[in-house]
Amino acid sequence: MNGSKRSKQLMTELIVENCTKCALHRTRNRIVNGVGPIPCRILFLGEGPGSGEDKSGIPFYYKQWHSSAGKELNQLLQQNRMNRDMVYIDNVVKCRPPGNRDPLPEEMRACFEYLRNTVELVDPTVIVTIGKVSTSVFLGDVNMDIVHGVPHAGLFQGKFRTVLPVYHPAYGLKNASMINKVSSDFRTVGRVFRNQTKPVSFDSKQKKYEIVETCSDLLNAEGFVESSIIAIDTETVGDKDLHKPWCLTFSCADATGYMVKADNYKIIELVNMKVQDPNIKTIMHNALFDLAVLENMGIFPVNVWDTMIAAYLLQTEPQGLKGLAYRHLGLKMSEYSEVVTPYTVEKTLNYLLDYLNFDYPWSKPDPYEVIVKGERKMKKPRSLHSKTMQAVKKHTNDGVYDLFKWWSKNVDKEEKFEVEAVFGELVESDLSEVEFGAALNYACQDADATYQLYYILKERLEQ
Ligand code: SF4
Repeated sequence: MNGSKRSKQLMTELIVENCTKCALHRTRNRIVNGVGPIPCRILFLGEGPGSGEDKSGIPFYYKQWHSSAGKELNQLLQQNRMNRDMVYIDNVVKCRPPGNRDPLPEEMRACFEYLRNTVELVDPTVIVTIGKVSTSVFLGDVNMDIVHGVPHAGLFQGKFRTVLPVYHPAYGLKNASMINKVSSDFRTVGRVFRNQTKPVSFDSKQKKYEIVETCSDLLNAEGFVESSIIAIDTETVGDKDLHKPWCLTFSCADATGYMVKADNYKIIELVNMKVQDPNIKTIMHNALFDLAVLENMGIFPVNVWDTMIAAYLLQTEPQGLKGLAYRHLGLKMSEYSEVVTPYTVEKTLNYLLDYLNFDYPWSKPDPYEVIVKGERKMKKPRSLHSKTMQAVKKHTNDGVYDLFKWWSKNVDKEEKFEVEAVFGELVESDLSEVEFGAALNYACQDADATYQLYYILKERLEQ
């Protein structure tokens, strides 16, 4: 059997007719089957048919004379030296969700068997997932702003394939600020198609994250003496608005990070001497925040470069450090809340249990008069002690009830006054309360990522 006959036969195998496996069959006009050569190196996967597709039965339906996602897709393909005949196009669900809503999980599950057959027979090496819904099939619940345009390598149906999430072409039609992101995503599709870009490999480098306590530690920190580039990040304690420093971290070489505590004045002075040299470039991510903290430590860099501003200028990048590190370095960095929240939870529980178990004549709220159906009645409000007991019980039973939020947002200041007079104010934990190794890793990774991102973003800006 020749190639084109075989392709036609496989195409016939993939055609779905008269399917009633999910509720979408009731509202559809036509089942929209995938189109394109089989096998095919590249599969474009949308979330579901729109109204034009529902009427025509063609995915990403295109009419010369009207503006549509299909027309936009064609143009983006052409701009990147591809066309529809070179690619296979399909959707996660083959029937139109009413009102163009996202397909429901049960509808996606019902249609998944067809998608599995498609991947097996079309056998793409690259699956371009268009939009969040189709991306979620392969990468789970991800933030499109972070993963878009990043080729991810993975094992799908027993084969290594690249999944490349892109923003939906229609986004560029509806939202002018998205045009650059959509175009940049499709440029990456073109590069992946021509084998010019490899999937991101998730960072597995051995990291060197250490604390600097003495001058000799500082002199031994990789790159500190000789490098003209130093990335600096800061961590604060207590109320963030006060910029009260806990430590700074710096990096002058890939995969390294060093922490200097804010009360280590000798080392702080030496770091200041370095960044006061106009030939030394100090890299920060969100310098506006860190400069205020550094000032409180007595550090005044004179030549500053901000990776957040660079990301902003590029227009296609997320501005958060963690998103940038994921996209360009394959680094999956922990969020501050992931590191600190468990400590806040434990501290809050202990605080409230201390209060409940403390033998003290806590004052009780006064009863007040209410009128019920024309009659005067005395109402006795619940005491803070009793409300706290209930909240603690709820937390102990389900393990997720947020006691800190309840105490800080739902309990009146006047009600807490007596308790705070005895136990002090309950404040959220910060890095200084976290197990030191975890705090060191968390703090150093920011300086390390900022150092590495500097070179990547600088090169992109220069291009
Ligand atoms: S969406 Fe898929 S599973 Fe549901 S009826 Fe259509 S073809 Fe069948």
